[in-house]
Amino acid sequence: MIASSRQNPTVPSGGAQTEPGFETICAHFGEDRAASFGAAAPPIVQTSTFVYPSAEAFARRGEADTPFWDYTRVGNPTTGVLEAKLAHLERGAWALAFASGMGAISAALQACLAKGDHVVCVASCYAPTRWYLDEVLARFGVGVTFVEGPSVDEFRAALRPETRLVYLESPTSGVFQIVDVPALTALLAPRGILTVFDNSWASPCFQNPLDLGCDLVLHSATKYIGGHSDVVAGIIVGRDRTLERQVRRQAELAGACLDPFAAWLLVRGLRTLALRMTQHQASGLAVARLLAGHPFVRTVHHPGLESDLGHELACRQLRGFAGLFSFALDDQSPTATHGFLNRLRLFSIGVSWGGHESLAIEMPQAPGSAGLRLIRLHCGLETTSDLVADIEQALR
Ligand code: PLP
Repeated sequence: MIASSRQNPTVPSGGAQTEPGFETICAHFGEDRAASFGAAAPPIVQTSTFVYPSAEAFARRGEADTPFWDYTRVGNPTTGVLEAKLAHLERGAWALAFASGMGAISAALQACLAKGDHVVCVASCYAPTRWYLDEVLARFGVGVTFVEGPSVDEFRAALRPETRLVYLESPTSGVFQIVDVPALTALLAPRGILTVFDNSWASPCFQNPLDLGCDLVLHSATKYIGGHSDVVAGIIVGRDRTLERQVRRQAELAGACLDPFAAWLLVRGLRTLALRMTQHQASGLAVARLLAGHPFVRTVHHPGLESDLGHELACRQLRGFAGLFSFALDDQSPTATHGFLNRLRLFSIGVSWGGHESLAIEMPQAPGSAGLRLIRLHCGLETTSDLVADIEQALR
């Protein structure tokens, strides 16, 4: 059997004494090849249930040092490999996989909040997260204040005695603002306010929010972790064991568990995460620099540009820059924006991001955009000069 992530999430399977590097964790950690026929790729344990040799063994399941697999909604060995790797990559104590990023987000919020609690959330977060807070949790008596950001003072001003949780993205979706996360968590932790951080943009390759003081970090693993646009998934990682029991309970009861085959695809995707992020970064920066110096472009939101308001802070918090950013054309008419999008040849028009293929969409009303009609680009894994040439010809 594959090593259970729940039993031993922080020890590399090879028994190495020194802390392994990022790529080594992706390649080896959490896998027990000796127990899976020497297979270089972990088996897909595609089962709903697990059987036991005796009534006594069944009664003892879950006791110390015995793997606790009894039902795949609650846990599965293939999913366990993924969780072990992600816990380690995000420098946390445990990880739990979900059927989607929204599955992870809703579980994290529901596990931590109760009627009467108040949440402060960055306004330019992923829109469905905003809707979940505003439309769903509001019906259960949870209040929310959205903060334009990114200044810590704005967050401070939004806090109430009943504030239980601050929800962050940095960079944010849409306008890619950078929040001073250590300053904010230093303000929140002494007040007992939890910080939950969506790290889908940077991936664990470029940022570790738990090291910046956050309590839970989560991902849409659909994006860079999967990386091949063939799986929808989410993950939560906890800094310490404090919230583990309540998040696991929420996940078990809400039921948005990850399918073992999807977990296997994510384990495969993880092996090339660092390589892919390097390429996304190179193309994203090349395209952003072209746009920033172009006469037809009014503004570019990319924290890797030296001219970006958040650049200095980004350099302190991030180890690199992903391939997703936005910009606005000088001509703000819908015709100009649609004309640009329609002329693109390598960038396809479509939602999502983080995969091998470059994507572009119009974002007409993104919070924080100062009313500008933004275009969001995701630079995929095509040759950088081809992507730059595509943008150049579409602007021409
Ligand atoms: N977080 C961010 C920043 C996203 O962009 C998305 C999806 O686009 C999600 C979360 C939700 O993830 P999923 O689509 O896997 O539910």
